[in-house]
Amino acid sequence: MATKGHLFILSGPSGVGKGTVRKELMKDPSLRLFYSVSMTTRSPRPGEVDGKDYYFVTPEQFDDNLRRGNLLEWAEFVGNRYGTPKDKVEEMLCSGKNVLLEIEVNGTMEVLAKCPDAISIYLMPPSFAALEARIRGRSTESEEIIEQRLAKARHELTMGDKYKYRVENDDVLRAASEIAAIIKAA
Ligand code: 5GP
Repeated sequence: MATKGHLFILSGPSGVGKGTVRKELMKDPSLRLFYSVSMTTRSPRPGEVDGKDYYFVTPEQFDDNLRRGNLLEWAEFVGNRYGTPKDKVEEMLCSGKNVLLEIEVNGTMEVLAKCPDAISIYLMPPSFAALEARIRGRSTESEEIIEQRLAKARHELTMGDKYKYRVENDDVLRAASEIAAIIKAA
């Protein structure tokens, strides 16, 4: 049987740049890293692809997955739900692949309670102003949703000490190389 892979959680406030850092990490084949695509009830942003960025599902489909115990963790975030499909993660880990979850802080706590060996990495913004600029810069959302995301981010910024590693996203390539070193060390 193949050795089990490691489970890595890349987390941190919305808008900190988790997706950009993750895409950088995925370019390095030596990390043998596989991304777990989440399920969400949120609508796709322009350019987002179903099955690649997220599985975009209806609230009923999400409920159905919850009922059938198909989610490793899930969380509500600014009016939408997000969850990690359990079977896919288990399949990848059992075949010796390293799996990367990119999730928010409450979901991270749920995964750590179930999988204490998971390696948690908290991506921090250089400042709150930088985070706000990124959230506003996406400009695909209404002012109301932006304000809710900022309020959520203020809370998420207090959670860094719950993680095994904290990495500052002052520069995408630098942050990605720091995380790559953490992954290699595991
Ligand atoms: P966004 O709407 O900006 O794509 O995502 C909102 C937040 O939900 C981000 O912090 C993102 O990392 C997080 N997220 C994405 N997928 C999941 C998931 O499967 N579970 C949890 N708990 N959070 C997720």
